Amino acid sequence: MTAAPVLDAESARRVKFVVLDVDGVMTDGGVYLGDVDGRRLEFKRYDIQDGLGILLLRWSGIRVGVITGRVSESVALRAAELKVDDLVQDEQARKLPALRKLCHKHGIGLDEVAFVGDDLPDVGVLREVGLPVVVGNATADAARCARLQLTRRGGFGAVREFCEVLLRARGEWDALVERYVQSRAEVPGK
Ligand SMILES: [Mg+2]
Repeated sequence: MTAAPVLDAESARRVKFVVLDVDGVMTDGGVYLGDVDGRRLEFKRYDIQDGLGILLLRWSGIRVGVITGRVSESVALRAAELKVDDLVQDEQARKLPALRKLCHKHGIGLDEVAFVGDDLPDVGVLREVGLPVVVGNATADAARCARLQLTRRGGFGAVREFCEVLLRARGEWDALVERYVQSRAEVPGK
């Protein structure tokens, strides 16, 4: 295990849009395939700690997007649960055109994007964004394009680690944690 990556405040504050790959980043890359009465079912396993990190990113005003090259109802359910701002499922895995389109729509530059990936379908995007990031178990080709390599594996807290690295570098982490703790101490309806 290598040391946790460190990000400078200036680079961290430039980020307006965090975009995540799904398989191998939000999951461990495993896919459970089944057939129930002729209906194809696909399941993935997500990390709950990652979800909380994404919540804190959104609280800090950072836009969060998910771009995947594999179409799955599971991803739509998880994206809705996390209330991510943008979800693109492109079965052709053309992630860079999808990202360019989102950036154009929201008036965000690619230099203001942080992208977290793990493998070859991410290389084109990693080469173009302002802050290219890979998970701890990324393939060598993807890792070569990254400015930050996380220590945690995809599906096992890598996204949470990145959220914390980014928000700490922006000097926002402690206040967001406090806000979360306070929010959980409130009695609903009062
Ligand atoms: Mg992947």
